[in-house]
Amino acid sequence: MNLEGQYDPKKVEDKMYKLWEDSGFFNPDNLPTDKRGKGKGKSFTIIMPPANANGNLHAGHALVMTIEDIMTRYKRMQGFRALWLPGLDHAGFETQVVYEKKLEKEGRSRFKMEPQELYNEIMQFTLENKKNIEGQVRKMGASCDWSRQKFTLDPDIINTVYGTFEKLKKDGLIYRGKKIINWCVKHQTSLSDLETKDTEKVDKLYYLKYGPFVIATARPETKFGDKYVVMHPKDPRYAQYKNGDKLSLEWINGPIEASVVKDEAIEMEFGTGAMTITPWHDAVDFGIAEKHDLPKEQIIDFYGKLLPVAGEFAGMKISEARPRIIEKLQAKGLVEKIEENYKHIVKTCYKCDSLIEPQIKEQWFLKMEPLAKPIIKAIETGKVKFIPEHYKKISLHWLKNIMDWPLSRQIVWGIPIPASPADKPGEVETFDTWFSSGQWPFATLGFPESKDFKTFYPTDVMETAGEIIFFWVARMMMLGFYITKKLPFKTVYLHGLVLDAKGQKMSKSKGNVINPLDITDKYGTDALRMGLVMGNTPGQSLALDENKIKGYKNFANKIWNASKFVLISTQNFTAVKKVALSSTQKEHLKNLKTLQKEVTKLMDDFKFYYAAEKIYHYFWHEFCDKIIEESKKDIASHATQYLLLEILSASLKMLHPFMPFITEEIWGQLPAKNPSTSLRASKNLLMVESWNTTG
Ligand SMILES: [Zn+2]
Repeated sequence: MNLEGQYDPKKVEDKMYKLWEDSGFFNPDNLPTDKRGKGKGKSFTIIMPPANANGNLHAGHALVMTIEDIMTRYKRMQGFRALWLPGLDHAGFETQVVYEKKLEKEGRSRFKMEPQELYNEIMQFTLENKKNIEGQVRKMGASCDWSRQKFTLDPDIINTVYGTFEKLKKDGLIYRGKKIINWCVKHQTSLSDLETKDTEKVDKLYYLKYGPFVIATARPETKFGDKYVVMHPKDPRYAQYKNGDKLSLEWINGPIEASVVKDEAIEMEFGTGAMTITPWHDAVDFGIAEKHDLPKEQIIDFYGKLLPVAGEFAGMKISEARPRIIEKLQAKGLVEKIEENYKHIVKTCYKCDSLIEPQIKEQWFLKMEPLAKPIIKAIETGKVKFIPEHYKKISLHWLKNIMDWPLSRQIVWGIPIPASPADKPGEVETFDTWFSSGQWPFATLGFPESKDFKTFYPTDVMETAGEIIFFWVARMMMLGFYITKKLPFKTVYLHGLVLDAKGQKMSKSKGNVINPLDITDKYGTDALRMGLVMGNTPGQSLALDENKIKGYKNFANKIWNASKFVLISTQNFTAVKKVALSSTQKEHLKNLKTLQKEVTKLMDDFKFYYAAEKIYHYFWHEFCDKIIEESKKDIASHATQYLLLEILSASLKMLHPFMPFITEEIWGQLPAKNPSTSLRASKNLLMVESWNTTG
């Protein structure tokens, strides 16, 4: 008997993790081959969302580790060949942004570095973080197969990514296009629509006289090159003008000749219903220009400064130029009125909040519609299950309205795009990081030839944050199906955000970030895991309260003390074939069986929060408060001792996926198997014991 004092996670956790790792059972190839339980040696696969190798594990990661480990341990105990494949993501733009901040602090800038030098430094930084994160994943008790760990910049992954790119190109789905893109002036890269935020902004709306028209704009600085005035063909106010009509008029820097364009894309209700277009710097205008084959002229450069077309304003930044341009227009009598407090939605960079400057730039694009089609069908016919279910509708809506995906990024940190015809020699182009992680399930399993791919693909569950459903989950389905002709997973389980105790989003600036490692240090990993899973329904955000976790530390102590009592009381227990149980004792065993069935059903239905709650209440209020208390009056009885051992071992099994450390430690103290109990057969670890077997 080694269960002394209170439960001390520090004495148990690292030792136990090493024991598990050394056992080899994280690798499904090493699992016992007996045909036990529901799984009977079938495979069960989860690919871990590759953590960004640019910082520390945060509370969201801790949640991922907890939920996925629960799934994996449960299935492993059921006799499945459970594979949980860990990985790390170079996380292109994300990591480069983190590294740029580091450079800034050191008074350096990436724009003053050679691309290769920058790449090497970020690689060094990433590899250091990789080690760090691996340690933190272990700390969470994650029973993932480290021997199969993958990194998005591993040579075989890069090969797979290139293979996919080649196939897409051959199939005519990749094109190099001069299209309008979202440009972040600060980060000097293009961004996909998903990497921009819609932000409400209050500006002035200027009504400018443009010949006989009045046009409304919030961005007069883009108007220098505007030679086309567009109106809706059905707008009665402009019935006298025809498509192609030419007008001479006075404009910012002198007289120009303008042409009338009629197009249905114009909202008659906005402003005066007439507007001029700036195809280089506005997506709607770009569409109109494409349709009517109009020329496009760049007015603002990639650093956010006005070009020579702006005449005397050339070289100025927008903020500086705007009031001066208005001043000039006013002097020329071209300002009709100024509407203050004009509220509108603008796009901003999701990392730095800078205003996105739409620009035309040559990029690689991926045609998404042909990729989305089969996925829409698969979702509609229920080939993939969403938990919670409302994500089905959200995904379908997005897929049905999908836009082509700009694949290239102007950053060094990533997988270089092969033979990329860059606009300028020496300019680097790498793939959007989601292009590689979008291939993660089949790339990590060694598509197409490897044994692993044949054994473990398609995977079973994709568990990740609801907020990256479009970034990642939808793209994995599209690319996975396109390459392998199979959906990469059967179930998508999406968790919500982890918030602070008050239900607020954690952020460094608010100072309310809960570091999961501080929590494990204080209360133990098992307690943190319980805090992350109890009451956490999929898709909903979870308020992580330290008091709650403290409560689960108490629960760990309760388990410890109850086990200590049972083990001390049953030290001389010997097995006999027939146990003479009282009717009350029989009732207790019957209730235990009912609980096992209920918990199994809940686990199969992915209701881990509810399963955990059931076991928690059973152990505390039924086993400890009632059965153990009752047993004290005839603890010498063979039947009583049998009952206690039976319930304890069954409880440890059910608790194991949730609280792996303490349960494994106690399991190791149980007496060896005997013919009439379900106690351990040999020196088996609890992690590979059969789920839910008694008697
Ligand atoms: Zn930015």
